[in-house]
Amino acid sequence: MKERIEILEGDITKQEVDAIVNAANNSLLGGGGVDGAIHRAAGPQLLEETRKIGGCPTGEARTSKGYRLPAKWVIHTVGPIWRGGGKNEDGLLASCYRSCFEEAKRLGVRTIAFPSISTGAYGFPLERATRIALSETRDFLAGDASIEKVVFVCFGQEVLDTYREIFAQVFR
Ligand code: ADP
Repeated sequence: MKERIEILEGDITKQEVDAIVNAANNSLLGGGGVDGAIHRAAGPQLLEETRKIGGCPTGEARTSKGYRLPAKWVIHTVGPIWRGGGKNEDGLLASCYRSCFEEAKRLGVRTIAFPSISTGAYGFPLERATRIALSETRDFLAGDASIEKVVFVCFGQEVLDTYREIFAQVFR
């Protein structure tokens, strides 16, 4: 199962996969960070479509087309804002990953790329979020044969180092 996971440093908008995941906000109308980068790279049609979707609750996911992106689909998920850990942040973040995998399965996606959801502007502690990302992925892949590759696109060296370290713990 390990071989179906790839960890790399880079820009998610450049990934040649069937679907990329967007760390969006509840409005789905775009924002900063990875969300802004995805909207810029996909072009204005993305906003037209997400406007029609009309929002997304925290912990859930919604799909749009990828437009000018190499990826066919964008799966938009809304991570929790970190409020100290007592507001079910862990459960909501796990739910994001599960919802994205459900969407991917429904769409027949074989390759999918994730950013580090909630760990930028939303302030979720990086190691804790990475542990959730990788253990949810392990649990999903254990029961699924349709997804061939899950790519974690790390933006910067700190994120890359953290993913490598937690990967060694989760998959030992
Ligand atoms: P959130 O609001 O969910 O915290 P952010 O976009 O602020 O989302 O940050 C989530 C992660 O995405 C951070 O690690 C940030 O560095 C990273 N990120 C920003 N731009 C990109 C990009 N183009 N590709 C991949 N990851 C990115």
